[in-house]
Amino acid sequence: MSDLQHGSPSTYTNHACHCEECKRAWRDAHWEYMQATPEQKRKHAEREKARYHAMTPEQRERRKQRARELYHLRKQEAASG
Ligand SMILES: [Zn+2]
Repeated sequence: MSDLQHGSPSTYTNHACHCEECKRAWRDAHWEYMQATPEQKRKHAEREKARYHAMTPEQRERRKQRARELYHLRKQEAASG
């Protein structure tokens, strides 16, 4: 039973779904971010900061956990090409 929306970068980051569709969506979103102008990146960082401040300590902890998972995943992906 899964009501996840596959092919969405948030499914990849928020639900840790690593199916091909979600992976590709996440990569595309990441690529777009890499292509963003410094101004766009600054705005993005501000939005993220505001979102972070609105979080409960539990949400922050979960977010940290996810970031750690993603970090390891990226390292694995980089190692496997
Ligand atoms: Zn998926």
